[in-house]
Amino acid sequence: MSKTLRVNVQTGTTNYEDFKKEYREFGGRGLIAKVMNDEVNPKCDPLGKENKLLLTTGILGETPLPMGHRLSVGGKSPLTGGIKEANVGGTIATLLLQHGIKMVIIEDLPSDDKWKILVIDKSGKAELVPADEYVGLNNYALTEKLQAKYGKKVGILSIGLAGERGYRNSSVQVTDASTGHPSRAAARGGMGALLGAKRIKAVVVDEATNKATFDYANKAKYDAARKKLVDGITSRPSGFSTVGTISNVDMVGGMGLIPVKNFSGELYDSKKLKKINGDAFMAKLKKTGGKNGQPCQAGCVVRCSNTYNDSKGNYLTSGLEYETVALCGTNCMIDDLDTIAKMDRMCDDLGLDTIETGATIAVCMEAGKIPWGDKKGALKLIQEMIDGTEFGKLLGQGTAVVGKELGVKRTPAVKGQSLSGYDPRNSHIVGITYSTSPMGADHTAGVAMMPNSDQMPRQFRLSMGANMQANMATCDNLMCMFGFMGTMGDATILPGLMEGALGGEWNTAKINAIGSETLKLERAFNKAAGFTIDDDVLPSFFYDEVAPSTGAIFDLSKEDMAKAFV
Ligand code: SF4
Repeated sequence: MSKTLRVNVQTGTTNYEDFKKEYREFGGRGLIAKVMNDEVNPKCDPLGKENKLLLTTGILGETPLPMGHRLSVGGKSPLTGGIKEANVGGTIATLLLQHGIKMVIIEDLPSDDKWKILVIDKSGKAELVPADEYVGLNNYALTEKLQAKYGKKVGILSIGLAGERGYRNSSVQVTDASTGHPSRAAARGGMGALLGAKRIKAVVVDEATNKATFDYANKAKYDAARKKLVDGITSRPSGFSTVGTISNVDMVGGMGLIPVKNFSGELYDSKKLKKINGDAFMAKLKKTGGKNGQPCQAGCVVRCSNTYNDSKGNYLTSGLEYETVALCGTNCMIDDLDTIAKMDRMCDDLGLDTIETGATIAVCMEAGKIPWGDKKGALKLIQEMIDGTEFGKLLGQGTAVVGKELGVKRTPAVKGQSLSGYDPRNSHIVGITYSTSPMGADHTAGVAMMPNSDQMPRQFRLSMGANMQANMATCDNLMCMFGFMGTMGDATILPGLMEGALGGEWNTAKINAIGSETLKLERAFNKAAGFTIDDDVLPSFFYDEVAPSTGAIFDLSKEDMAKAFV
């Protein structure tokens, strides 16, 4: 029987409850949407006692579904003021599920300023223990200390100083299954600040002595569907497996989709693109002894992750991804992988979202704080956030706040969250997602790279945008999106997995309904929190400025987009 672990930081209690039957067909993001609607006042202060920090696992997390042991971190976002789910690979979900823990709910606020660590030991005993010796540490030093105390096999979820200080651009970091470093990030929406408000510095989960078992409705059916998924992915490895997500740089850059110079819509110089593309990345790994093709979580067969070393061959960071290259690289006119990798490491260590950070730095460049392409200047701005200078504290509040403070008209954010690695004029489907997703501007909520989409019929774009979001919401209930892509070519895989694991009859429509219901719940929460269609719109410069790369503008009004979700 799966369990919910409820932790009250006011009383210091930890209690196990049976996982509710009515939640059984939700996981990850959908579970967050359900619980937020059931238990959290949408109008609450995100950093106040009524908000809850939720850690949830996928619908099929109890099974050995490859890429199905992802962790969703959620609550009311300190960055957007709306519902938030940020998901992450790494070690934690696998270990929680070994204990039969489907979900953790952390609630209330402590009555004093004492920091705690939530420790789940081998027997499953959950306890809040004092964290005095760890306060003030960033994620790498913290992880080393915790691994020294609890052993190398534990999984660790933690916040750095960004979360402690309440930066609204703060992430929750999780240890990576391949490297053991805190390099996996539930990055978006300021979940680090929410955990920090609860005065939880880290969650440490040990391997379970008695591993939870699962009652399959039809194990043979499940195994057959799982085999099809694994065989499909491993027999035709994508660029994500053979290189990593950085393999996207050439294609996305060539289509004018990669953000350039604070979403100017320009095409990035092709010679410069070659310095940060998949080939350059692979050459760098070869030269410095880095590695690609690594799994961030146990059982992953896509293995898009990597270890990136510095020029002397020493570990610098892991999980360097396309989005970081796009936002900290081309969007800031920085074409140097070593600098981008350093930015990635600093962000992981402090506990910052690299997407929001890159967008914030570009806004500073637009404001003239530092020149375009200034590598040292960009690193210095992150250092200011680490040092907690007055300007650093402002930077930690994210792109929208910084843009407003510096008087920058072209600030790329929706619902207070920065856009990610795609210029919306050159793929309107992403533009619809940025505008209307309950998460704020977030490509993972629905991405389709469609050149010339501005030429496509309005209704087609709108319905495709809505469908993509429902599709990705389904994915976020189940597994990592790169694994989910592997289910697309064979419509029998997902129904087979669901019927084999849970029983009943499943078809594509019923599976898609999970995502649609998730979106409905999220939109209901945001509506009750006070969001209106006025919040579902891109910044005006995407409507006014033609993208020089393609001649496209974004031309879908908020009224158009509202119709896609009735
Ligand atoms: S595909 Fe990449 S992000 Fe997804 S689980 Fe595997 S290594 Fe992690």
